[in-house]
Amino acid sequence: MVYFVGAGPGAPDLITVRGQKWIRQADVVIYAGSLVNPELLRETKEGCQVYDSARMTLEQVAEVILEAEHKGKTTVRLHTGDPCLYGAIREQMDILDQENIAYEVCPGVSSFCAAAAALDMEYTLPGVSQSVVITRMAGRTPVPDRESIAAFAAHKATMVIFLSAGMLHNLSRELIKGGYEPDTPAAIVYKASWPEEKTVVCTVDTLAERARENGITKTALILVGQGVSQKSYDRSRLYHPDFTTGYREGTDTK
Ligand code: SAH
Repeated sequence: MVYFVGAGPGAPDLITVRGQKWIRQADVVIYAGSLVNPELLRETKEGCQVYDSARMTLEQVAEVILEAEHKGKTTVRLHTGDPCLYGAIREQMDILDQENIAYEVCPGVSSFCAAAAALDMEYTLPGVSQSVVITRMAGRTPVPDRESIAAFAAHKATMVIFLSAGMLHNLSRELIKGGYEPDTPAAIVYKASWPEEKTVVCTVDTLAERARENGITKTALILVGQGVSQKSYDRSRLYHPDFTTGYREGTDTK
């Protein structure tokens, strides 16, 4: 059996109870060493074999899993944040399907949630934006043309940009090309939930400069949109005294 586990954004107590339980039971753990906090490995049982996938190819990861399976062992594949975002889990699952190996996924707290927490931010502020675009810049690995930063920026929804902290000049240019005003609020969140976490609130046109000043080149998320530092928004309807819901009678019965 193979368990794909979301390790959370970094702080070891931000893994789920289920994920922790699965790590404790594992005979083999393959973790994404570039971003998973090694403190989580302290939970492994004695004799557990631990591999850092940062130094491995997909084929090597598969080999370790298949060998464990032949011996009737349980493997945990530990991914940073939530495995569903930039986790390259589908290709691993396809190999497991071919080999008739069962697997299950345990979600994790994605870094985009930890970044909002670090800034006390609500991505879906009523009257400001009700959508979050999760994307990345094209770099050494491509992004489909129809999903360009400029195309998404045209919606002026909240944007969370992964894997792009080293390309901030281009990112700003694309965001502005797409329609964001240069002075739109933006933030850089470095290593959300780690002891060395840094948050920098700036604007779309100052992203590169502020990242440089703070020595941030990787392991950061870029958040863009009025919601980053919006003081005016609409109050929620759901919690308004007038509003009737399935759980509460509103005062306005018109
Ligand atoms: N599955 C992960 C994302 C993996 S892609 C998740 O759900 O968070 C790796 C990218 O995620 C990094 O380049 C960075 O942009 C972002 N990232 C991961 N952990 C982070 C953290 N603690 N703080 C800020 N950004 C983080």
